[in-house]
Amino acid sequence: MEANLFPNLRIVLVETSHPGNIGASARAMKNMGITNLVLVSPQRFPDEQAVFRAVSAVDVVTEAKVVDSVEEAIADCQLVIGTSARDRRIPWPMLDPKGCGEKVVAESGEGHDVAILFGREDRGLSNQELQQCHFHVNIPTGEAYSSLNLAMAVQVICYEVLQAKLAGMPEQSWDMDYASAADMEHLYEHLEETLIKVGFHDPENPRQLMTRLRRLFNRIRPDQMEIGILRGILSSINPLDK
Ligand code: SAH
Repeated sequence: MEANLFPNLRIVLVETSHPGNIGASARAMKNMGITNLVLVSPQRFPDEQAVFRAVSAVDVVTEAKVVDSVEEAIADCQLVIGTSARDRRIPWPMLDPKGCGEKVVAESGEGHDVAILFGREDRGLSNQELQQCHFHVNIPTGEAYSSLNLAMAVQVICYEVLQAKLAGMPEQSWDMDYASAADMEHLYEHLEETLIKVGFHDPENPRQLMTRLRRLFNRIRPDQMEIGILRGILSSINPLDK
């Protein structure tokens, strides 16, 4: 997988006070295949704490774009989502983290530029900044303490973005074609004949043996190679006279 799965998505950290949180956010992003980081007036940056906490995501930190305002950070974006630890006075269109992931994947997949904003450690995003967003997203928490550490909030949201992306990806492909219905019928004939020959199966008193064996093989869904191996084993016990 390429390092940046989301070229149209940027994570925007607004006036972060602790550079360690910038590094930890960069790591959280890169772990989830997201690498575009924009910093709006960080209090201390560049800083060795950011590099230290980023570990193998130093590239995300060093390539981060530093700008002076939220307006500048989101100017070319068609979708802007703001994260918030609490309800604000004026209700705004809300997304839950999973819905946020799905929205981001759908829109960025269509080529729209998307920004997700994260606020200051002490005060979050201002009302004015939140009002520049199309949607707000809140990470549900226990009632007693709703404010996550900044980088942890980045982790949760970026995780949901990647999950939404993975949900839309084709399933892992198998290295062999599956056996066909005819392959399976030949196997059952060969198997039944062999089981009779070795005295395990009595066709006069079949009980549910072949039904149960059919159900077993259908559950496994063997591929052609596996059927070839089984047929080979049966042939070594009971060569078919052709
Ligand atoms: N005391 C601040 C919280 C700031 S936490 C406030 O009440 O707004 C720093 C940032 O982490 C927030 O601005 C937001 O971007 C993110 N964050 C923390 N907890 C969150 C939550 N429960 N849901 C969504 N974002 C959250």
